Amino acid sequence: MDPIERLSRLFEKFPGIGPRQAQRFVQFLLRSSPSARRELIDAIQHLGGSVRECPECLRHHAGSKKVCALCSDAGRDVHLLAVVANDADLSALEKSGTYHGRYFVLGGTLHLGSEQATGLHLRELLRSVPARLDAGLEELILAFPANPEGDATAARLHAEIQRGFPALKVTMLGRGLSTGSELEYADHETLKSAFENRR
Ligand SMILES: [Zn+2]
Repeated sequence: MDPIERLSRLFEKFPGIGPRQAQRFVQFLLRSSPSARRELIDAIQHLGGSVRECPECLRHHAGSKKVCALCSDAGRDVHLLAVVANDADLSALEKSGTYHGRYFVLGGTLHLGSEQATGLHLRELLRSVPARLDAGLEELILAFPANPEGDATAARLHAEIQRGFPALKVTMLGRGLSTGSELEYADHETLKSAFENRR
């Protein structure tokens, strides 16, 4: 296959990237210097070797230890656990500087019209709750995007937590977030008010 076509098709597999954008990426790389392209190749290669999944929050990190820097930070509030859809949403909350508790990455949101939670770490989360309660957990915050999939995921988790751990307080982000918005694209102030207005 033609190398331009080949790379363009690879970019098209990225979330949210269509053929036109994929071609623009390829054009950009064609204009880039060989050293810039090598840096990209190198960065992709290193994803396999040095990045691992934290056994506690399930986010991907490049630390030298098994448990990530957030989970091993004794300064973080063990009373709070924010459940987020993905690593990007976790980074967005972290950058907003409003939240200092622990995290759990669910690995996505439910697909509408399907009860299947394939690929979501629902069981892992429920299994980890007893140990987290022993460590002082008091509130679980469902921090999902303000869209139907996020709402469905929050409702499902809420029901499962209430069934298994009726004493655990479960809250959701307030609707400071505009409908349909992904956490990762929300500005810091919006995230802050969504956190403060959780209920
Ligand atoms: Zn972690």
